[in-house]
Parts: sequence; structure tokens; C-alpha cells
Amino acid sequence: MTVLYPRVALIGLGLIASSMAHAMRANGLAAEIVGHAKSPETRAIARDLFCDRVCDTAAEAVQGADLIVLAVPIGAMAAVAAEIAPHLKPGAVVTDVGSVKAAVVEAVAPHMPDGVQFIPGHPMAGTEYSGPRSGFATLFQNRWWLLTPNEATDPAALAKLRTLLEGIGAKVDTMDVAHHDLVVAVVSHTPHLIAYTMVGVADHVRRVSESEIVQYSAAGFRDFTRIAASDPTMWRDVFLNNKDAVLDILGRFTEELFVLQRAIRMGDGDHLHAYFTRTRAIRRGIIEAGQDTAAPDFGRGAEPPKAS
Ligand code: NAP
Repeated sequence: MTVLYPRVALIGLGLIASSMAHAMRANGLAAEIVGHAKSPETRAIARDLFCDRVCDTAAEAVQGADLIVLAVPIGAMAAVAAEIAPHLKPGAVVTDVGSVKAAVVEAVAPHMPDGVQFIPGHPMAGTEYSGPRSGFATLFQNRWWLLTPNEATDPAALAKLRTLLEGIGAKVDTMDVAHHDLVVAVVSHTPHLIAYTMVGVADHVRRVSESEIVQYSAAGFRDFTRIAASDPTMWRDVFLNNKDAVLDILGRFTEELFVLQRAIRMGDGDHLHAYFTRTRAIRRGIIEAGQDTAAPDFGRGAEPPKAS
């Protein structure tokens, strides 16, 4: 492939940024990759593994960059945007990878100077690992990358960013900010909260049944523990910043749970059977859409990265 952006600056050098760097390198999409992260330890690892140059400040890292990717936790976006704003080159494109969009737009957009395009984004790919060593070039392969442009977005800047993301393997879609936040509350954020809760419940029960929870964990619970091992900072910020959509979906979840609870109590097998038949069809739809494998045991071993 040809170079799309001569200089790309990555602010935050964890799972997502390091995976982008590996993938851009593998596909020759950027001539120079410059990076900045908070700690000297992360900066040193990034220098060794995937950055051409690493800077001690975000302000320095964005100087002269054609594309800037904000890949820090959502709670750090506003401060980073304020710091880099005076140093952005006219014509530069800024994007982010935050898992929530309304809160990030609110945090970043007011800082963006005229002549700089801010195109928010969210890769629906991840693992339960974090940090600069956790990235790999194929993380985004066949995964969705959602962009939330608005009416002021330059179509040429959007098309070029789309080409880059497709070049690192992603399937790109666009949608508005509020719709994005509701969709991810359903497919990612609330399921994570439920996994965290279930693992918390098991932890309480474990005090009664000791090691049996771990010993027999393969029966479904194991997959909850994998999700519940996700980065605490990132997920704290997700829930604090996608509050309304998550509370909406959680309310619906609780209502459904009460209906199922009642069906169990009343011995209403027909209700349970009909419900589980509908959910099984949704699973089939996900496999047919190529979003998971049909392999048994939750496709372990051949499992695509989970969405976030
Ligand atoms: P990560 O592996 O924990 O990396 C976060 C990076 O941000 C680290 O390099 C950290 O530096 C740096 N950082 C934190 N605060 C900073 C600050 N104030 N200034 C500069 N750098 C700072 O996180 P990640 O998984 O890549 O997530 C990054 C973003 O991607 C988040 O907004 C998250 O919502 C989004 N996202 C994550 C996933 C996922 O599954 N992980 C999926 C989609 C989107 P140090 O290492 O020095 O602390």
C-alpha cells in the first residue's frame, strides 16, 4: 500500500495505539509514527517495539503530524486535547478511539482550532489485555470501526481516514454520536457490567463453597471472568461517560430479568422455552454475520477479539 499520512502521532500507547502502529507498519500506511504516553516506562517500550520517535510531551508529539490519534482513557481526553490544540498543524486530522462518543466529543471538540478536522472514532475490537506490549497487527482484522462525523466534517478527510482504517483491516461505518452510544451500551457496555456483576456474585458465593467456583468454571462462568478481567480504568470511564444509555439498557435488562425470574418461580416452561428459542436465533445471526465462530465451547482457541 502507499503512504496515506506522512506523520502519524499516537497519544496514549496502550493496546489500541500499539495495535494501530503494528498494523500501519505492516501495511506501509504511515512514513513516520511518533508517540507519547504518560509514563517513561511505556514510552521506552513503545520506542523499542513500534514507534519511530517518542516524545516526553503530547504537545511535542503532535507537531507537524498529519494524523493525530487520541488513544488515552476517556477521562484523559479533555486534558490531552487542551494540551495539543495550540501545536496542531493546519490541515491536520485528529481522531480518537474512545469507547464512548458524546462525552469525548464534548471533551475534545471545543479545543480544536479552525483548520483542523476532528473525526471521532471507535474500533469495536479489543482484548482483556492492556499496555504497550499487548498490541498486535491483526487486532482490527474484520472488526467494525465506527466513525461519528458531523455536517462540518470534510468529506475528503473522512474518506482518507476510512482508507487508513480499511488498510489496517477494519470495516468502517458511520453513525451519529447518540446512536453510537446507545448501540455500544447494548452490545458491549451493559454486557460488561453484567459480567462484572456475575463474577462479583461468584466471589461472594465462593466464601461458602470455596474452590468449586474455580474448579467448575468452564461451564460458562469462565467467559464472564475473561470479560471481567478488562482494564478497570477504561471501564470505569466507560460507565461514567455513557451513563444515560447504560442506565436505559440496564433498566430494560432488569425488567426482563424479573419476567424470567417470575417464569421460573411459576414453572412457566413455555415462556422460558420461547424466550431461549428467540435468543438462540440471535446467536445464529451473529455467526452468519461473521462476528463469531460456530465452534463449540464459545470458539475458544479460534476466537476473534471481543468488541468494546
Ligand atoms: P491502555 O492499553 O490502558 O493504554 C492507555 C494508554 O494511555 C497508556 O499508554 C497510558 O500511558 C496512556 N495515558 C493515560 N493517560 C494519559 C495522559 N494523560 N496522557 C498521555 N497518555 C496517557 O488502553 P487501551 O485499551 O489502548 O484504550 C485506549 C482507548 O481506547 C480508551 O479510550 C478506550 O475506551 C478505547 N478502546 C479500548 C478498547 C479495548 O478493548 N481495550 C476497545 C475500543 C476502544 P501509561 O502506559 O504511561 O499509563
